[in-house]
Amino acid sequence: MVARRRHLWSVLLALVVALLTLLIWLAGRFEASQFQERLERDVTASVSDLRATFLRHVQSVQALQVNDPTPNSWSVEAALLLREQREFVRIEWRTVDLQVLSHADTPFRASVFERLGRDGAASEVAQACGNARRLSGPAYGTSYYLPLRDGLGVDVMELCLPLSKSGQLAGYLVVTFALQQVLDNLLERKTLTNGQASFTEGDGTRLVMRGPPRSGSRVFTAQQLIDLPGANLVLRMDQWRGAPELFPNVLTALVTGMSFALLLVLALLGKDTRRRLKVERDLAEALAFRKAMEDSLLTGLRARDMQGLTTYVNPAFCQMVGIRADRLIGHSLPAPYWPPESIDEYQQRQAIRLAGKLPPRDGFESVFMHQDGTRFPVLIIEAPLIDAQGRQAGWMSAVLDISEQRRVEEISRTSQERLQATARLATVGEMASLLSHELNQPLAAISGYAAGSLNLLHDAPQHATLLGADITLAMQRIAEQAERAGKVIKSVHDFVRRRDPEHEVLAPQSLVDAILPLVNLQARKLSVRVQVQIQDGLPLVRCDRTMVEQVLLNLARNAMQAMEPPQILDRLLVIRVRRVPGDELRQWLEFSLADVGVGILPAVQQQLFQPFFTTRAEGMGLGLSLCRTVVEQYGGALSFAPNRPMGTVFAFTLPAVAMA
Ligand code: ADP
Repeated sequence: MVARRRHLWSVLLALVVALLTLLIWLAGRFEASQFQERLERDVTASVSDLRATFLRHVQSVQALQVNDPTPNSWSVEAALLLREQREFVRIEWRTVDLQVLSHADTPFRASVFERLGRDGAASEVAQACGNARRLSGPAYGTSYYLPLRDGLGVDVMELCLPLSKSGQLAGYLVVTFALQQVLDNLLERKTLTNGQASFTEGDGTRLVMRGPPRSGSRVFTAQQLIDLPGANLVLRMDQWRGAPELFPNVLTALVTGMSFALLLVLALLGKDTRRRLKVERDLAEALAFRKAMEDSLLTGLRARDMQGLTTYVNPAFCQMVGIRADRLIGHSLPAPYWPPESIDEYQQRQAIRLAGKLPPRDGFESVFMHQDGTRFPVLIIEAPLIDAQGRQAGWMSAVLDISEQRRVEEISRTSQERLQATARLATVGEMASLLSHELNQPLAAISGYAAGSLNLLHDAPQHATLLGADITLAMQRIAEQAERAGKVIKSVHDFVRRRDPEHEVLAPQSLVDAILPLVNLQARKLSVRVQVQIQDGLPLVRCDRTMVEQVLLNLARNAMQAMEPPQILDRLLVIRVRRVPGDELRQWLEFSLADVGVGILPAVQQQLFQPFFTTRAEGMGLGLSLCRTVVEQYGGALSFAPNRPMGTVFAFTLPAVAMA
């Protein structure tokens, strides 16, 4: 992927560079062609100039013949003409067979024919005049070189004009003119700083030239045939560029500048793309991390927009409700995981939410339905979903399946109940032995009274008067003792019987009364005096009678056991119920059990309420932990403090029922 992208970039770069080179080259070429065109136009203009000049020459020379001159008068006129026309070297009037009738030389230079004589040029003159005769008009001869005395020379050309008289050829006018002068005159008004002009022959041989020596590296050339009758003269112009310039003109400079700008932009773009790619990679990583996190989460996540349409769910949520994400997203209300029987309630909740009321921060409990129809409890924590602009776009919910938590709670509740039952059974064992001891007395008394009554009946006739009263008394005692035995058995039965917890409104007195028979059972065995002090006018309490009785019984039993050691002589257990002073709004009742026993060592105090902590060989260590659980269930507290001068006071509080 990366290699491919790099490849693409290099192709793009190569293409751009090629394009730019081509553009610069084209701009250069365009400029060159413009230059060439200008040169061609120059040459064309110069050639037409030249033609006009030659035409004027012909006319001015023809003018010499106007007044039928004599050779002498002609030569005066010719000399005048030569003064005006600097390019003329010599004018001759010749006869039909080319004999010179008269001639005149230019006053501006020494006679050019001085050295070689005029005959040297006879052939060129003959050629020119031959042409003129054939054409019956002005004609030119080929150019030729005339060496001069001073070692230099001039290129000259002959112009021959045929003269006619009454339709007959009467002779010729021959004009010799210097090509250099023609060129100089032609270019008089032009300054040739970076070019040369020259006359060449048809084959390219250069005849005369004007202009500075060649200096540029790039030469542009244009040439054109002047097309004079009989002569093959070509005007050629060369122009060159000075030192090669970096930016020959604005166009190329512009194109080059733009190319650089383009390359720069390309480089910046490349850099930007690299940065973008990095950001993209980072973003993809962050996204992958977030997704992995969401996917591994056990908490279900769900987002809904303001209309209640589901916009997002994570895999944990889908698994919880057993519905695929694509079937949940975009689903409107009622949601497919709402149990049909609760739809109305949930819709109402939704309406409250839409009205802008915030849900509780610590979440609320609800019931969802799995696709297979099973309902399960969930804890939903909902918070507003704020978008990048800071507006609320919907609601985000974290959903926890709390069915497992519920199951554990249920188990602990039942196990606690079972524990309580077990503790009670343990107490029953203890009580059974006390019971046998305790029932012995009334039963022995019953049998004693019964035997006494039988004896009395046996001796009946002798003690008839005494009999009635004694038997009545014995029978009363039997009844009393039987009732006492029955009560003892009933109290044990009441205690053991397992009932469903029920909250009743009770007088504190009745609670104490209920446990007293059992407490007395043990107290008698351990020689403990039991004192009960109940304040007058106490309010009622709402509680489960069995539970609180159990607490009282446990504490009383612990207190009596603490007074078991033989060195404790005056064993006294004080059971007291009073109103807790202070709080007016909510009244509390305090039940306290004070003993004069061994007290509690500091090391033992720390662990007192831990289940299974005991200091007794036959103890279970469950009593106090259960007592605390029960008391706290009603919102009360179980505490203990040392008793003066010795022993311990255990006390617990219960809320009083508010008086009407
Ligand atoms: P158990 O009675 O089965 O030992 P408890 O939880 O009722 O279990 O009591 C735990 C321990 O607390 C007792 O073993 C005893 O050492 C101590 N304890 C409880 N009540 C008193 C008390 N009134 N005086 C001294 N020690 C006490």
